[in-house]
Amino acid sequence: MIKSFRRIGILTSGGDAPGMNAAIRSVTRTAIARGVEVMGIYRGYRGLIEGDMKLFSIRDVSNIVNHGGTILFSDRCAEFKTEEGMQKAINMCRNNKIDGIVAIGGDGTFRGATDMTVRGIPCIGIPATIDNDIASTDSSIGFDTAMNTVVQMVDRLRDTCESHARCSVVEVMGRNAGDLALQTGIATGASAIAISEIPFDEKEAIENIKKSKQSGKRNFIVIVSEGLGKCGEDLSVRIEQQTGIETRFARLAHVVRGGSPSLRDRLLATKMGAAAVEELLAGKSNIVIRESCGDITTMDIGLAFTLDRYYKGVLKDGELDKYTPDERKMLDTLRNNKRQSIEKLYMLSKEISQ
Ligand code: ADP
Repeated sequence: MIKSFRRIGILTSGGDAPGMNAAIRSVTRTAIARGVEVMGIYRGYRGLIEGDMKLFSIRDVSNIVNHGGTILFSDRCAEFKTEEGMQKAINMCRNNKIDGIVAIGGDGTFRGATDMTVRGIPCIGIPATIDNDIASTDSSIGFDTAMNTVVQMVDRLRDTCESHARCSVVEVMGRNAGDLALQTGIATGASAIAISEIPFDEKEAIENIKKSKQSGKRNFIVIVSEGLGKCGEDLSVRIEQQTGIETRFARLAHVVRGGSPSLRDRLLATKMGAAAVEELLAGKSNIVIRESCGDITTMDIGLAFTLDRYYKGVLKDGELDKYTPDERKMLDTLRNNKRQSIEKLYMLSKEISQ
């Protein structure tokens, strides 16, 4: 352990996700157990700039492991992205003896963590977003709970679809990541799934629904990812026109964000929180904690950003040039594995949606 660590700060930033509280609890208790104080920073980077913070005791994180949202609250702070805002944040850390920060959130949160690290406050990121849109980790905190919430809601819609011989087109969150739509689509027995990663064959999907209707099927679920824009609403009109099945559109949106975290998210958050503290106290920074094939490991934040852009096909010109052959190989493997697993799941979903 680095002797100079007196106090670490913890904050949640960007969109909230169930399990953030379990991560806050784990970070706090792991740090205190190692003799390091914990400063709870409220309202993300905005609270850091404004000095909205409190020294946490073990009891400050009692009775939160089971609660959704974040006891530290969250905010989006444009000022933090400016050099002036960043300097205010750094000074606030120095004045409050904060020697390192664990930042829980998504991509934007990690950018802030990097900016602080290069200015002398070591930071470590923990991925928490219901979208699972962070390519460097197999799962982000909140994703499992959100999937379970979607499944519960779609199951209810399905009951009514079965009673009335209807179709429900359901849009789920996920910005540019189709994981939530794809996995919940399979788990709810959807007749069709549309995600931005894979071209959607609308004609084939509608023909499939017609065929299923002819063979006696009464309920139809179609899951559409938010990343496809207004696609879901328009699709529901065309399904009704072309199949004669009464079709309703439902956007689950923010109701999927809250709620008590699942066992898996509580466990993931607890493991990631403890790992973040261990890494920080071991002198590591500018890394993101990740889950890879069931193990908790780390990745350099810069590499994680590149992997994200690589996976999404939006790499900057020459971005890969700065990496060693080994790092490039790793980026290739991770990108291809994620793509292949999505493609494989998508093929499976099509095969079983009769
Ligand atoms: P998420 O972390 O869920 O992706 P945001 O993208 O809204 O959420 O980012 C959360 C906060 O992180 C922002 O309000 C801002 O304070 C900070 N942030 C985002 N992008 C940057 C950036 N490029 N540089 C520094 N800070 C950033």
